[in-house]
Amino acid sequence: MWSVYLDTNPIRTASTRGLGLVSRRAYYGPLAPLRARQLGKRKLPGRRWVRVRNITAGIAGTDVALVHLQLDPRISLAALPRNSRLYLGHEVAGEVVDVGPDVEFLRVGDRVAYQLDQCCATRDIEPPCRHCAVGNYSLCENRYLPGSSAIGGGWSDEMILHERQLFLVPDNLSDEQATLLEPSAVAVHTALRHQPQPGDNVLVIGGGTIGLLTTQAVRALSPNANITAMARYPVQVEMATRMGATRILYPEDGTAGVARLTGGRHFKRRFGPELLIGGFDVVYDTIGSSETMRNAIRWTRGGGVVVQAGTQMAPSSLDLTPIWHQEITVLGATGHGAESWPGTGFSTWGGDNGGRVSTFALAAALMREQRLTPQRLITHRFPLREVRHALEVARDKATHRSIKVLLDIREVSAAPLQTADLAAAR
Ligand SMILES: [Zn+2]
Repeated sequence: MWSVYLDTNPIRTASTRGLGLVSRRAYYGPLAPLRARQLGKRKLPGRRWVRVRNITAGIAGTDVALVHLQLDPRISLAALPRNSRLYLGHEVAGEVVDVGPDVEFLRVGDRVAYQLDQCCATRDIEPPCRHCAVGNYSLCENRYLPGSSAIGGGWSDEMILHERQLFLVPDNLSDEQATLLEPSAVAVHTALRHQPQPGDNVLVIGGGTIGLLTTQAVRALSPNANITAMARYPVQVEMATRMGATRILYPEDGTAGVARLTGGRHFKRRFGPELLIGGFDVVYDTIGSSETMRNAIRWTRGGGVVVQAGTQMAPSSLDLTPIWHQEITVLGATGHGAESWPGTGFSTWGGDNGGRVSTFALAAALMREQRLTPQRLITHRFPLREVRHALEVARDKATHRSIKVLLDIREVSAAPLQTADLAAAR
């Protein structure tokens, strides 16, 4: 089995971080954490495990950040235990090619999407923790226990996973849609962390895959909300309009622009701080930088809600006074799990469980009804062999006008890839 992964050895990471300040080539060199190699044929490690042959995988913002070591070692997440090998690619569709004797939900030939890493179900823990009991596996209290037998990720030709890590893809979704179920589920979960009321003024900050899909998910789930999108590049602005935003806020518009759009009152001292009374009812921040978090909190009206879905891996220093002064609620959003959904407006979906529905099933239902169209975000496709070029295209959005970059995995066994090929690529 072939795999592109990160070797998390701290010496490798530290030296590459230093060399990376001089040249980006360091992230692909022989000392870099990024590796590509043959891992050999692996057996299924348990009776409920399956082997998946991958078809297509996406490059997510977190993949780009991990490869380029954009993770500040001071953040609390850095305290989590780490495997010596971190497999890359969590947006992936594949086909089941082998199943263990006790596998219940999958058969050889099924098309599947990667759904989650570890939780109570994948560790056969009974009874499950409080979060898994209601389907919220992203918050699983047993997620970070040591010892996982999973091998391979989306940027591998195969993955060996517990069957509960996978989602059975409905026949009427394309391979591209199946690959993009994961970011679509993130967007649906983000939109449902706080569902806007009819007539609410909503701002979605960020024009990447998650920002654009959140715009579309809010449009689908709260059709009578007024959605403003804030994006940086022209290709993102154009796509935000196609995904359902009716107004655009440009970065240079600033707080004065928000006051004009929402009828708020803008106070500003010369060369000093500014304050908005009024603003958006709901702000979704899909970036999570100091700047976007500061804006999200400042641009929300009194009593309004900020949904923080950005996954920037760096600490920030923020003026939080609007939170108490304007009684703003800040909600975090991470990954996906299960949603409370009243069930109106949808004819069919699988996985309904006591008034809660799996986020993946809800995202698949929205795709079937053409209300979520992540395939429109695909701007580039590369064979896995060209992963280095693909990563640079995904990273340099302005130069390449890129939104979603996909990797075609199927050719990899015919043309194996080695770490040395990454270093030699342009
Ligand atoms: Zn759990």
